[in-house]
Amino acid sequence: MVNPATGEPLANVADLSRPQIEAAVEAASQALGPWSAKTAHERAAILKRWSALIMANQEALAQIMTAEQGKPLAEARGETAFGASFLEWFSEEAKRAYGDVIPTAFAGKRYFTIRQAAGVAAAITPWNFPIAMLARKAAAALAAGCTMVAKPAAETPLCALALAQLGHEAGLPPGVFNIVTTTRAGEAGEVFCQSPKVRVLSFTGSTAVGKQLYRQCADTSKKLALELGGNAPLLVFDDADMDRAIEGVMANKYRNAGQTCVCANRIFVQSGIYETFAARLTHAVAKLTVGGGTEPGVMIGPLINTKAVEKVDRLVNDAVSKGAKVRIGGARHGRGGYFYQPTVLDSIVPGMNVMSEEIFGPVAPLIRFDSESSAIAMANDVSVGLAAYAFTRDLSRSIRLAEALQVGIVSLNDGLPSVAVAPFGGVKDSGLGREGGRQGLDEYMDTKFVCIGL
Ligand code: ADP
Repeated sequence: MVNPATGEPLANVADLSRPQIEAAVEAASQALGPWSAKTAHERAAILKRWSALIMANQEALAQIMTAEQGKPLAEARGETAFGASFLEWFSEEAKRAYGDVIPTAFAGKRYFTIRQAAGVAAAITPWNFPIAMLARKAAAALAAGCTMVAKPAAETPLCALALAQLGHEAGLPPGVFNIVTTTRAGEAGEVFCQSPKVRVLSFTGSTAVGKQLYRQCADTSKKLALELGGNAPLLVFDDADMDRAIEGVMANKYRNAGQTCVCANRIFVQSGIYETFAARLTHAVAKLTVGGGTEPGVMIGPLINTKAVEKVDRLVNDAVSKGAKVRIGGARHGRGGYFYQPTVLDSIVPGMNVMSEEIFGPVAPLIRFDSESSAIAMANDVSVGLAAYAFTRDLSRSIRLAEALQVGIVSLNDGLPSVAVAPFGGVKDSGLGREGGRQGLDEYMDTKFVCIGL
């Protein structure tokens, strides 16, 4: 594996064989009984210690993250704290995994439900948030009483291994949280999907791989949580607070160099403010400093690899060949390597590939619209539905948008909605299930109905 800022080798990590991955599933299976038998308070105490250890090692984890993933150190510190917040949140939620006492339907019977750990959970996580995506899954699974086998992306195994080491120091018993590192992702996926011992598969990644895993899990009827790709619309209306909208777009679009599944992929701007907005956004983008994530003042790091740079290049060239105008950027960065210039594209219209494909790079495509209804129709005209954003000061419009946008997350006048206390997830091709919030535990628990004859 390499440092994406330099292209230099960073570390050698074990490339596990199929039997080794199977052994990890077996270890999780062996550990399940004792772990799920602990009280929620006992599990919570360990998860809380784990969260505190992550924060105590925030700087070291951020350095590891920047080295293997590329994001600026300030963002890496933020993601580390975000990851810790899930362990804190679910350590508390574990204590509130209530069942129900159900009013009876027959005089001689009584009913209640209990919620129990679903079993061994498998996680497959991406490289763009190497600590937070894994911590979000592990926190909910372990709080619920499940044990876990996790396969991080081959680009970012070090954050996962560091997280596991801190979990060990926090007191996780052997076998409760297992990391498998491999360059053969498909093989790990097969082991997880085929094993009847694995009862839950939680995946964050591309829609294509998610659908493949969905099919592969059919034979063992697993519970599935799929956090797949997005193509977030961001709508800026004539009545928006312009300062807020620019600030929101900058925070949302250019974070992690545009490599997030909730990044605005299509920015719809109403005609009355289109010119002003485009000029102000371009001005703000011109101030972004590109460089290695450990260099002072850097706000945009490298993309993850050559494939990512080629994809962004292809999408920008496609748009330009079909009539888009480059306001700023529009090409690879002079530094070479995996760096791409922060870009604003003007005059984007349907038919350009940026309208339907996830960019995953620092490129903001601007689309002009006239009416609210046409903006909503265009926003919804994609197969995915993860996040959507709107900037407006009209309260009634806000409510209409919240109800009409076909997504799992609507963010009004705010570019950064993700938080441990609220449910995160998509609709349509963006996947199934919710992570975080009080809903997050449900993915890892079964509800059992108990009927008693008197
Ligand atoms: P990205 O384009 O973000 O790399 P992927 O869906 O390819 O998205 O990767 C997300 C995670 O899924 C990574 O951990 C990757 O190794 C893993 N992965 C990729 N292909 C498969 C597969 N066929 N089966 C299981 N996991 C896979």
